[in-house]
Amino acid sequence: MPWLARGAVLVFALLAASGCGQDASTPSMTAAPLVPDIHSFARPAEARVTHVALDLHADFAARVLQGRATLTFVRRPEATELVLDTRGLEIARVLDSRQQPLAFRLDPAVEHLGQALVIALPASGDQVVVEYRTSPEAAALQWLTPAQTAGRIHPYLYSQGQAILTRTWIPTQDSPGIRQTYEASITVPRPLRVVMSAEMLTADGVDAGDGQRAYRFKMDQPVPPYLIAVAAGDIAFRALGPRTGVYTEPTMLASAASELEDLEKMIGAAESLGGPYRWGRYDVLVLPPSFPFGGMENPRLTFATPTILAGDKSLVALLAHELAHSWSGNLVTNATWSDFWLNEGFTTYFEYRIMEALYGRDRALMLATLGRNGLLREMADLPPADTRLAIDLRGRDPDDGMTSVAYEKGAALVLTIEQAVGRDRFDPWLRGYFNRHAFTSITTQQFVADLQQELIGGDAALRDRLDVTTWIEQPGLPAGAAQVASPAFGQVEAEARRFAQGARAATLDVEGWTPQQWQHLLEQLRPTPLSPAQLKDLDATHRLGDTGNSEILFAWLRVAVARQYAPAVPALERFLTTQGRRKFLKPLYEDLMASAWGQPLARRIYAQARPSYHAVSAQAIDAIVK
Ligand SMILES: [Zn+2]
Repeated sequence: MPWLARGAVLVFALLAASGCGQDASTPSMTAAPLVPDIHSFARPAEARVTHVALDLHADFAARVLQGRATLTFVRRPEATELVLDTRGLEIARVLDSRQQPLAFRLDPAVEHLGQALVIALPASGDQVVVEYRTSPEAAALQWLTPAQTAGRIHPYLYSQGQAILTRTWIPTQDSPGIRQTYEASITVPRPLRVVMSAEMLTADGVDAGDGQRAYRFKMDQPVPPYLIAVAAGDIAFRALGPRTGVYTEPTMLASAASELEDLEKMIGAAESLGGPYRWGRYDVLVLPPSFPFGGMENPRLTFATPTILAGDKSLVALLAHELAHSWSGNLVTNATWSDFWLNEGFTTYFEYRIMEALYGRDRALMLATLGRNGLLREMADLPPADTRLAIDLRGRDPDDGMTSVAYEKGAALVLTIEQAVGRDRFDPWLRGYFNRHAFTSITTQQFVADLQQELIGGDAALRDRLDVTTWIEQPGLPAGAAQVASPAFGQVEAEARRFAQGARAATLDVEGWTPQQWQHLLEQLRPTPLSPAQLKDLDATHRLGDTGNSEILFAWLRVAVARQYAPAVPALERFLTTQGRRKFLKPLYEDLMASAWGQPLARRIYAQARPSYHAVSAQAIDAIVK
C-alpha cells in the first residue's frame, strides 16, 4: 500500500482490533475495508460485492467461458453505481434481480488493470446479473490442447487468479480486501470433469443435455476473489486420508498419490502450530506441466505443478507451503498487493516449521538456508526500493512484488520475532494472530499494531530490538535478522571447494546426501570457473542432466549455462519446453540472454515453447527474450 494511506489504516486497525471475532457471514457496509487498493477500480465504500454466483459454459473450441455472474452486494442507500473490475470481457447485458436491463459502461482500459465496468444502480435492490463471455486470450485461463496434457486425448482448462487475473474471467470487485463467498455451475462436454476451490456439490456432475455435464460448487467462507479457481479436464481422484486426496490426470494418479501420502500428517503438524484447519477438505490438484507456479493455494484445493513429483517426496516442502496458506493468505489475507509479504513471509516461515515437525530440524534448516541464500542473491540485483517488505506498486503490475523479498525477507522477520521472544511466547501469539484476523484481509500496519498490542506490549527493549519499522520501510536485510545456517551444508561447501580445485567427481563424499545438499553444491559451483572437462565429469558421474528432481536439474542447468557448456543444451531444451514454471524459466532465460552464446539458443527455444506456457510465464519471458 502507498504510505500516504497510513493514517486512515491505523484508525481502521484500532477499530478492527476492538471488534475481533467479527462474524464474516453477515456483511454490512460498516465492515467495508477503508484501505484503498490501487489495483482495483472498485469503490467498495459505496457498493461492495459480497457473493458471486457463476453459471458458465466452457467452450473448448472457441476457448471462452460464457454465461452469467449474479453478484450480491451491500450498498449505501444513496449509492448510484456499482463498479467492477474487468479485463477483456465482452459484456452482453446487465440485469437487475427482476431481469430488467440496467445501464452500464466500460471505461477506457488502464495498463495492468483492465476496464472498470460501471453499472447504474436502481434506487433499491442488492443483486445484478452480468451476462458476458471471456476473451480467448483471458490471462487467467489456460486452454490446453490434448497434446499439451499427460493423457493426450482430452483438452484441459485451468485458471490462475493471483494477483489480478480473476477479472479476466469473472466481472467482480477483484481486490484481496473485498472478500466474497461464491457458488458456481460450470458446464463442460462429457467426459470432462470440473473441480473448483470450493465444496463440490455434484462429484460426477449432472446431465445438462447435448453431450454436456454441469458441475456445481459452493464456497460459504468469504475469500478474496483471486482464490476463486477452476479446472476442467480428464481428472481422476484418489483419497489419501479422511479429509485429503489428490486429483490429477489418470496417467499421473499413482505417482501423485504416493508422492503426497504424507498430506494428512502435514495437516496435523500445521494445526498444532496454526490452530484448527478451517476449510473442511484439503485436496491437491496436480496440473499439466504448463502451470506457471509451483503451487497455488486455492482454498480446499491447492493447484500444484507436476514438477514436484520427484519420486522420493523430496520436494513436498512445496505442499507444506501451500497448506500453510490455509492460515496465512487464505484465512488472513493481504489487504493490498503491497502487503503481499504478509501472505508469503508468514507462509514461508510456517512451511519451515511444518517441515521441521515432519522431517526434522536438519531438513528445515537446509530449506531455510537455501531460501536465505536465494534472497541475498536476488536482493543484490533488485532496485533497493523493491527490497522493502511493503513495496510501492503504484503504476505497476503486482507481479513485480512477487520476489523472494516477500517470501524470504518476510520469513526472516517472522523468524527474528520468534527468536526474540522464544517459541513459548511466539507460538501462542501466532495462533492468536490467525484467530484475531480470521476471514479478514489486513494491511502491514494492522500486522504492526497486532504485534505491538499482543506480543510486545510495554517491553520497550523488545520493541527496539525488533525494530519492525526498519524491516518494513528500509531496503535490504536488517543487521539484527535471525541467522540461518545448516550444519549439513558445511560439508557440502568443503566438497564444492575440493571439486573446484580439481578433485574428480567420483571422489566427492556425497554418501546419503539429500536433494537440498545437491542443490546447495550446485549453487556453490555456479560462480566457479569450471572447465568443460570438469562439467563432463560431474554430469557423467552423478547423472545430473537425467535427474527426476526438478530443483537439482534446474540448479545443474544454471551451472551449465553459466559456463556455456554445450553438451547440456539438449537437457536444457527439454526442461524449457516440457514445463512452464516461471520460477525455473525466468532465471534460465535470463542466464541465456546474458551472453552472445546463449541469446540465439534462448530465442530458438522460446519460439518453440511459448505457445505451451501460461500467460503468467509468457509475459515474464517476453520481457527477457524480446
Ligand atoms: Zn506462497
